[in-house]
Amino acid sequence: MNDYQQPDATGHFGNYGGTFASETLTHAIQELREAYERYKNDPEFLAEFNYELAHFVGRPSPIYHAARTSSEVGGAQIYLKREDLNHTGAHKINNTIGQAMLAKRMGKPRVIAETGAGQHGVATATICARYGLECVVYMGSQDVKRQSPNVYRMNLLGATVVPVESGSKTLKDALNEAMRDWVTNVENTFYIIGTVAGPHPYPMMVRDFQSVIGTECIAQMPDMLGGQGKQPDAVIACVGGGSNAMGIFHPYIPFAGTRLIGVEAAGEGLDSGKHSASILRGSPGVLHGNRTYLLQNEDGQVTETHSISAGLDYPGVGPEHAYLADIGRAEYVGVTDAQALEAFHYLCRTEGIIPALESSHAVAYAMQLAKTMRPDQSILVNLSGRGDKDIGTVADLSGVDFYDRPSMRGLSVKGGSL
Ligand SMILES: *Cc1c(COP(=O)(O)O)cnc(C)c1O
Repeated sequence: MNDYQQPDATGHFGNYGGTFASETLTHAIQELREAYERYKNDPEFLAEFNYELAHFVGRPSPIYHAARTSSEVGGAQIYLKREDLNHTGAHKINNTIGQAMLAKRMGKPRVIAETGAGQHGVATATICARYGLECVVYMGSQDVKRQSPNVYRMNLLGATVVPVESGSKTLKDALNEAMRDWVTNVENTFYIIGTVAGPHPYPMMVRDFQSVIGTECIAQMPDMLGGQGKQPDAVIACVGGGSNAMGIFHPYIPFAGTRLIGVEAAGEGLDSGKHSASILRGSPGVLHGNRTYLLQNEDGQVTETHSISAGLDYPGVGPEHAYLADIGRAEYVGVTDAQALEAFHYLCRTEGIIPALESSHAVAYAMQLAKTMRPDQSILVNLSGRGDKDIGTVADLSGVDFYDRPSMRGLSVKGGSL
């Protein structure tokens, strides 16, 4: 694993990160830290991780030159890192494999996870099926309804989905509930967090597992750009919690000639109050075990968020992004729902790729930025996932009823079926 930009001994990146967790979890967190320290550079652990990435996920994922888009837009050449081609359709599987491997080594037969859109839940259920681990996924009841195909996928993979009825019944409530489960079942349970958030060591550990994305890009780009040692002028990724962005950014941190640009969900506009732009419009506070930028009111209450893409709909952001923003090594911008949707349709028709709505935010900003650059310059976009999961949302927004809304009868969740 890379050795630069590591958190300090207390898990802080500058003023962000740390461990804000109940006393009952102190032991479990310490145990996880020790296990990760022991295995992160262990040759046998890394060999197994790399084997899984190659044979189960299908890595390395290719880089694709979006040549038609680049010439139509004018300006810099746009390249896509195809995380959408991974098994389960997004970058999330990279991280769940690493954490499930730790769960096995720590002798924890039960895995819990939180999920919003269901992508992290599906990736966790997938690896638990592969390793024979019990899997329980917490999901806001609002999201259970919005994302019923993913609930059924988790059913098929043998996981138990627990609908969460508290708060806004979405991702942050699912995270709270998963934390509660962990406190109760800490002896036999491993909590697989899906992004670069949570108490130390999660932000560092998830970043390390996802860094395979950027490490591959550094090896692949010189061939794509036709020159030894050549790297892109800018790397762009969408930021929800920030794991796909940290995964591609981190290996590029020492490359001073490469701008790093994170795209937050500006929803209906950065000043509409309906967005998820925690860095651009938030302030420092504590959420889910770490100190970071949050969307909160004057009393420190976390506020409601909005994005067209469920995966970006989170009121916080990983602490390492907060740090990168403060020191200016990465820049953060906003893209609205409407701009993301336009980029979604554009990529479908121009490149034959249906991107996730999350990733469409990064594509939209790349198209804006490319126009301001020269044709001999290049932009690398992390295409974090495929858009199959989003076609229902897009159809609804387009007024298309392409099939009857899937019946939810027969979907099983804890306590019965819907
Ligand atoms: C979950 C998800 C995201 C957002 O999560 P990050 O931790 O910010 O990467 C982005 N893209 C896709 C396809 C996702 O599934």
